[in-house]
Amino acid sequence: MNKLVAGNWKMFGLSADLPEIAAIAEQSRAYPAVDVALCVPAILIERAVRAAPGFVIGAQDVHEAPYGAHTGSVSAGMLLDAGAHLTIVGHSERREFQRESDADVKAKAETARGCGLDVILCVGESLAVRVSGQAVATVVAQLDASLPAALDGPAWLAVAYEPIWAIGTGKVPTTAEIGEMHAALRARLAERFGSAGAAVRILYGGSVKAANAAEIFAVADVDGALVGGASLKAVDFIPIVAAAAVEGGAAIA
Ligand code: PEP
Repeated sequence: MNKLVAGNWKMFGLSADLPEIAAIAEQSRAYPAVDVALCVPAILIERAVRAAPGFVIGAQDVHEAPYGAHTGSVSAGMLLDAGAHLTIVGHSERREFQRESDADVKAKAETARGCGLDVILCVGESLAVRVSGQAVATVVAQLDASLPAALDGPAWLAVAYEPIWAIGTGKVPTTAEIGEMHAALRARLAERFGSAGAAVRILYGGSVKAANAAEIFAVADVDGALVGGASLKAVDFIPIVAAAAVEGGAAIA
């Protein structure tokens, strides 16, 4: 399966940024062996789809209910209707600031899939957990509790390992730490869902940029990246896409 490089624009993006989305879409076409997507604010989705026809636009969250009395929330059907193809669920910023639990994340993933959206499901440990030596056990347990009950095939789901302490900080785990975590997540996915689980793409996220992307993509079991800050401008994002296009990535020193 192609590597997947998805940008997370978080709470950034106005009409004035639509040409940047169009530029990213246009320049991504040079790398057909990489699946590229941008997850933009919900209110920008429809305009982003119009600005970049054929390019994959995603959302950053979805409500777990298909519809109902949930003031201010956005449903999977609405995202799909606006032209989104996928949504992030369980980003650590939502787990922390909106108090989303693993059960919430699981419900969101199931509802999104049920409505026809692909899903990037995020997991990751705090710095305190990393320092305590419990990162792998903690993140595997988080994955286990956040996964949908069933997996009919690997293509619609990606798991993003995003250590909280690496998001927006410029700090990145060692390639050995990334490899250890991704191998553990792959093993758990295979245990849960057999060959479909083993084929789920596992992305790394947390301070990915042009300077470190090739090294990260060369780590075994890294099938792509979820990119925050470096996804806002084509000049920063496209070199990451280009690094993902290099078969096997660069050699690890
Ligand atoms: C993210 O928010 O998912 C993320 C990985 O952010 P950054 O790349 O800025 O660390």
